[in-house]
Amino acid sequence: MNIHHNHPLKAYNTFGLEATARYFVEVNTVDELEEVLKHEELKGLPRFILGGGSNILLTDDFDGLVIKNSIKGMELLREDDKHVWLKVGSGEVWHELVMYTINQGWGGIENLSLIPGQVGAAPMQNIGAYGVELEATFDSLDAVNMTTTEVRSFAKEECHFGYRESVFKTTLKGQYCIVSVTFRLNKQPTFNISYGDIKRILDDMQMWEPTVKAVSDAVIKIRQSKLPDPKVLGNSGSFFKNPEIPKTQFEALQQYYPLIPNYPAPNGLVKVPAGWLIEQAGWKGKRVGNTGSHAQQALVLVNYGGATGQEIYQLALDIQASVQEKFGITIVPEVNVV
Ligand SMILES: Cc1cc2nc3c(=O)[nH]c(=O)nc-3n(C[C@H](O)[C@H](O)[C@H](O)COP(=O)(O)OP(=O)(O)OC[C@H]3O[C@@H](n4cnc5c(N)ncnc54)[C@H](O)[C@@H]3O)c2cc1C
Repeated sequence: MNIHHNHPLKAYNTFGLEATARYFVEVNTVDELEEVLKHEELKGLPRFILGGGSNILLTDDFDGLVIKNSIKGMELLREDDKHVWLKVGSGEVWHELVMYTINQGWGGIENLSLIPGQVGAAPMQNIGAYGVELEATFDSLDAVNMTTTEVRSFAKEECHFGYRESVFKTTLKGQYCIVSVTFRLNKQPTFNISYGDIKRILDDMQMWEPTVKAVSDAVIKIRQSKLPDPKVLGNSGSFFKNPEIPKTQFEALQQYYPLIPNYPAPNGLVKVPAGWLIEQAGWKGKRVGNTGSHAQQALVLVNYGGATGQEIYQLALDIQASVQEKFGITIVPEVNVV
């Protein structure tokens, strides 16, 4: 095991922020993870599990132990006429998993193509895109308790998935390192192509009978045309979650803003796109020093180069405050602020 001291994290976060970890260790197996968790020199330190770094905002140096997860591997556990159960190491790259399943002709996660990051963070966030969330194909996961080092399996209902939420972001926050995820994928896929421009692009491709590959290609095309590439412009995707508000509050707002976009949400709530609220509050494309809200995607905060995590965080607070003032709606970060 290699313990690095004062290790730079710039290459490990898609905002491209300068920060260091007091201790940094990469783990390739569950045994190595257990060894790190039990290590005398590293005991008692604050710990942070790092995946692909595509959903974090580093506001300072991390005065503790960063554990970089590189636990790989894939295993076909079982299959029947309709489904396969695939167990995947949490350090696998998410998009590579999607490509693998597409090559096998298995359906379920094609709408989640090109989402950055690793498999382990996917259930933590319940990642979603183009009308599909991870929970739809999720079967179970294994996670190591960071205090006892015991491995525990979590069934779907124990994960309490919600919109970009799971138990690992709430009551069990910071307590477990997810080491593998098992997916139940479809051998006879049905497609979800009603969201966004997917159908139009498939029509352009003259794909009258969609395939998992064609849907994935369409999603990739849309994403590449709309989202800034972190390799070119540092960002962490959508910075805020779309707020869900009571119907009465929505109807009152609609009186003033008849064009306010909206979608039904669970429990009779109404989902309002945070990007629209931010744009209406005057932030879209606005640059503040080396950071700002992206010109095409108001919801994406960017690092134009040389921004600090504190500056991006301050921008997020200012945006949050002005949306609150204008609409009386609290928008909360989707990104994990560290
Ligand atoms: C350009 C861009 C587009 C994006 N588009 C989408 C999108 O369409 N939909 C979407 O849902 N998200 C999107 N995201 C956000 C991001 O890609 C996802 O949230 C992704 O799942 C984060 O994975 P990661 O490995 O990079 O996690 P990290 O950023 O490394 O970590 C995120 C959080 O998960 C924790 N974590 C990571 N791995 C583990 C583990 N093994 N066990 C326990 N905790 C862990 C970390 O401690 C941290 O709190 C986008 C990001 C970018 C930059």
